[in-house]
Amino acid sequence: MTTAQTLFSHLPATDRLLRDAAFTALLAEFGHTRVVATLRMLQNEAREHIRSASKLPDWSEDWAKKTRSVLEASQRSALQPVFNLTGTVLHTNLGRALQAEEAIAAVTEAMRSAVTLEYSLDDAGRGHRDRAIADLLCELTGAEDACIVNNNAAAVLLMLAACANGGEVVVSRGELVEIGGAFRIPDVMRQAGCTLVEVGTTNRTHLKDYRAAAGENTSLLMKVHTSNYHIEGFTKAVSEAELVTLGNELDLPVVTDLGSGSLVDLSQWGLPPEPMPQQLIADGVSLVSFSGDKLLGGPQAGIIVGKKALIERIQSHPLKRALRADKMTLAALEATLRLYQHPETLVERLPTLRLLTRSAEDIHRQATRLLPAFEQRFGELFDVRVEACLSQIGSGSLPVDRLPGAALTFTPKDGRGTTLAALTQTLRELERPVIGRVAEGRLWLDLRCLENEALLLEGIAQ
Ligand SMILES: *Cc1c(COP(=O)(O)O)cnc(C)c1O
Repeated sequence: MTTAQTLFSHLPATDRLLRDAAFTALLAEFGHTRVVATLRMLQNEAREHIRSASKLPDWSEDWAKKTRSVLEASQRSALQPVFNLTGTVLHTNLGRALQAEEAIAAVTEAMRSAVTLEYSLDDAGRGHRDRAIADLLCELTGAEDACIVNNNAAAVLLMLAACANGGEVVVSRGELVEIGGAFRIPDVMRQAGCTLVEVGTTNRTHLKDYRAAAGENTSLLMKVHTSNYHIEGFTKAVSEAELVTLGNELDLPVVTDLGSGSLVDLSQWGLPPEPMPQQLIADGVSLVSFSGDKLLGGPQAGIIVGKKALIERIQSHPLKRALRADKMTLAALEATLRLYQHPETLVERLPTLRLLTRSAEDIHRQATRLLPAFEQRFGELFDVRVEACLSQIGSGSLPVDRLPGAALTFTPKDGRGTTLAALTQTLRELERPVIGRVAEGRLWLDLRCLENEALLLEGIAQ
């Protein structure tokens, strides 16, 4: 027999393995089908290995152990909890806003129980699913009515589809934004069945440009908040208030895609100000749309607030049914909005605001506390330090302004990129992966979003 044939004959048969005591626990835990499928896969892998390397794979000493590790790896959730130490508070790829405990409790309850989603207890008739939250939104923004959908992209699409009636929508060339993930204003217009009329230039748009573009086919004047970029220098944009004056004169509604939109004045905590939906409503804007999971700090949702007649058109448009929010989203959103009714405790209870308002000193102290543990674990290969850094809000909010904070930085002592890559990989492979950012030849773990210090230390000690 050749070596390969001898080795093939050493591969244990599935039946024999399954009778092993070590496999009893695996069968109970993962079920017969998955254990057998994994064994077949491993046997093929072993045969491949024999063919290519003329020896058994190292793991074949312990089939049960290998089977367990493969099965456990496949059990890992697609939504694995991680430490977001990227320095971006509202990180779209990491799920944006963390929910308040109140929102978590409300969602859990809504999941477990039947709820009055479209049911009014007063007359036992069918209510309207956005009703209760719309009332809350009206109270918080001064709007006449509101509508909630899956996300702000959906809100913009629906707003245009329902209110432009296939007509022309006038937008400044300085506001034809791409948000990422293929959300571009011109494309959304097309999908909504309306015609985009661009006015002004990239850097300057005047009220007279809107006036000149408005004609008998015009249905809406639109403003889009340029959330993820900033034009500086010789610029001019028309404010919502000015546009409303023109809209009133021409009998055209003004609608705004605000993107993030904060329901509280962020400057009270020294944060850069962000436009507030209530301000635009006060300025007379007919419809304002914004996200639930950006600065608002709630679940993924799109919120439209504004004039009753227009919201009614939106509510009865067939797309609303396709884009509506589910009971879990609505439960989380309602609980989040209720926190805004009590602004004194908002910073404490709303994670997004709590993280955004952390002081540089507080984060610096935390970094100093954590330094010894990281030095002990990584100090041999890396120069580990506490350094000042700038974090960002993320999700297109306030793209220019940065929040001063602190990070632990890791500079490879051998100066090699491969050493750095190995470190980021090690951290990604922890039970709760640690996600940082690499810049200037160093790994930065920005601690702004670290609340559970003990859990991180536990992971590092692994
Ligand atoms: C983020 C953003 C959107 C998309 O909002 P989602 O809630 O992510 O769908 C649309 N418009 C603007 C201006 C934005 O900033």
